[in-house]
Amino acid sequence: MAEKKEKKTKAEELKDKLFYKQKHSCCTMSEAEVKKADKYCEGYKSFLNNCKTEREAAAEAVRMAVEKGFELFDINKSYKAGDKVYRLNRKKAVILAVIGKQPIENGVNLTAAHIDSPRLDLKQNPLYEAEELGYFKTHYYGGIKKYQWPTVPMALHGIIVRADGTEITVCVGEDEKDPCFVVTDLLPHLADEQYKRPAARLITGEELNILIGSRPFRDDECSEAVKLNLMNILFEKYNIVEKDFLSAELECVPAFKARDIGFDRSMVGSYGQDDRVCAYTAFTSLLDMKGVPERTAVCVLTDKEETGSDGNTGLRSAYLRYFLEDLAQTLGGVDGRTVMSASRCLSADVNAGFDPTFPDVLEKRNCSYLNKGIVVTKFTGARGKSGTSDANAEYVGYVHSLLDKNGIVWQTGELGKVDLGGGGTVAAYIANLDIDTIDVGVPVLSMHAPFEITAKNDVYMAYRAFSAFYKAE
Ligand code: MN
Ligand code: MN
Repeated sequence: MAEKKEKKTKAEELKDKLFYKQKHSCCTMSEAEVKKADKYCEGYKSFLNNCKTEREAAAEAVRMAVEKGFELFDINKSYKAGDKVYRLNRKKAVILAVIGKQPIENGVNLTAAHIDSPRLDLKQNPLYEAEELGYFKTHYYGGIKKYQWPTVPMALHGIIVRADGTEITVCVGEDEKDPCFVVTDLLPHLADEQYKRPAARLITGEELNILIGSRPFRDDECSEAVKLNLMNILFEKYNIVEKDFLSAELECVPAFKARDIGFDRSMVGSYGQDDRVCAYTAFTSLLDMKGVPERTAVCVLTDKEETGSDGNTGLRSAYLRYFLEDLAQTLGGVDGRTVMSASRCLSADVNAGFDPTFPDVLEKRNCSYLNKGIVVTKFTGARGKSGTSDANAEYVGYVHSLLDKNGIVWQTGELGKVDLGGGGTVAAYIANLDIDTIDVGVPVLSMHAPFEITAKNDVYMAYRAFSAFYKAE
């Protein structure tokens, strides 16, 4: 047994003082706080299970907000400090705000996370039959490794808008008693030719067909009897005809539930954690806020991040700017630009956690690790930081000191080694509004896979970081 060291050497002392070394969260969090993290993640897991699409996440955020006293924002009403408002954008994006004590021209403290996740969307004319099996054609949404998605039990979520304008909400495959669906793959015995394909085309986009049935309609004369039988079931259940798919938005997502990972239950495994982990932490910390914030606190949960933020529910559109302009007008009769220029933002999105099985893609001194707290990412982008907003050092310093002051475990992060790839978030689009913006978030393993991994301590640290940020002067 090694002798216990009594005293640190001068060099050790100096190293402790001068070197930056991020410790495991369990070394800095008390046991009671780790328990709190575990407890908080029970609510998080329910949210993941109940909200697998942007529409479901938006509806749930509004439901929970209304329960906490948030009201639909009305530009003609007058508001006072402490009032809580929300705006729903086309049922797919939400902005929540708590009015602060300071005049609105002092700016807002804004968080932004996205509630869309990679998945398989049905094409507009999806239903077909091939060799007496029934299928849906899909077009994948967001960046996926396509080979990961076959042989995963899938559920179908979304809405169908009928020709008469009426809407039907669809959710099949989540209840244990529901049927679910699946993309098939080739057996290894016959995969010699498939193995020769490059991995990106091991399964192609047009092979991501979802198996939905196999029994024919009972009529010997009829062709496409399996398709007919399926359409007949859909007609009886939803009162839809095939043409109604043309105006539907149906999304196939993994049917499994969020689970604890590891003997120590330290992690959460689930579909859709990018970026519902930041969405959940960003809006629940606003809902749980005690007292009235100094500056107006705003949380936007956006859609379309995974496809590049275009469209009127994505953050490249003007909907956030319009809301801030409306706030500026209603609260202070000032220009929106005055408010935006004085505002600060935490762009809340996940980062790639270091995976020891694949150590070569991340640079160890600058990447993020599971259990080392919320990640602060100064810049994203690819090939010479292209596409990043790259936060100013002054603003990074502000966030650095805010997190330290509040005892929040945090680390720095980078999305991969230089020139190995990269990616972006909504940060650039918010920074382009002249708002000080930086990326923060939770490290994830297996990002964009059907089952993604986060550490509970990091999830909780994100929640605490957003709470501190909303309250900041
Ligand atoms: Mn993301
Ligand atoms: Mn993503």
